[in-house]
Amino acid sequence: MRDNLCAQGLCCLSIRIFAAKPNAMREKIVAGNWKMNTTLAEAIALTTALRDQLNEDDTAKMIVCPPFPWLVPVRTALTDVAISVGAQNCSEQRKGAFTGEVSASMLGSAGAEYVILGHSERRALYGETDALIALKVRAALENGLQAIFCCGETLEEREAGKLEEVLSRQVSGALEGLNETDMAHVIVAYEPVWAIGTGVTASPEQAQEVHAFLRGLLKDVFSETVANNMSILYGGSCNAQNAASLFSQADIDGGLIGGASLNAADFLTIARSF
Ligand code: PEP
Repeated sequence: MRDNLCAQGLCCLSIRIFAAKPNAMREKIVAGNWKMNTTLAEAIALTTALRDQLNEDDTAKMIVCPPFPWLVPVRTALTDVAISVGAQNCSEQRKGAFTGEVSASMLGSAGAEYVILGHSERRALYGETDALIALKVRAALENGLQAIFCCGETLEEREAGKLEEVLSRQVSGALEGLNETDMAHVIVAYEPVWAIGTGVTASPEQAQEVHAFLRGLLKDVFSETVANNMSILYGGSCNAQNAASLFSQADIDGGLIGGASLNAADFLTIARSF
């Protein structure tokens, strides 16, 4: 696989690394992005399976991000259970005549504590820009939500040697101007676009290299405290088989999981892979 990735230009990066503190103090997080999947019955069955298989040795923070209409029933099914609920998007607007939009305050009142923002599918399919994502992040934080901010390069950008430039633009474009208190409510997810839903996973070494770069970037743009305390998740075909090797890396603090989060046993295996 590694050789194959090298042949595709997916490894051997030469990027600037910031030597951060060990990750022992950072929160370990596994978030499931259900995308536009599940009927209500399937969502409840998945939630119930997670709830029933959870045990007291589960220490990683678990978050499930169902489609908007299932937020309340999923939250209700998780009453008194240590699994949090997040949404997959929110409006940058506060309220009013924005047909079809869902505000951050609505998500909060539906029981969501987190919201995924800047996902590559929103960027590519719905034209979300860094500037729009910046507004959404601010709307989320103002309404007491934690933002799971996604960034990542396409294969073409990586092959053109633009990885650092793309990540710097995405991080600065959406997050610059936030203060340390704001940043304590942000989680960064590195999601190489070429790995999302493709079955091609970044190798642990590739992912670690980029996570270390992102941590250095956070130090430059914000502060050492922000960089050291930030949970940086890996996303992109992370599954029950490869999670442990990814999570063993110093700067990988967990995962944003798409396909594998639709299976309770797989999601729990991933959450137990630290
Ligand atoms: C995602 O969409 O955030 C994701 C990581 O998807 P997958 O795990 O299916 O690649």
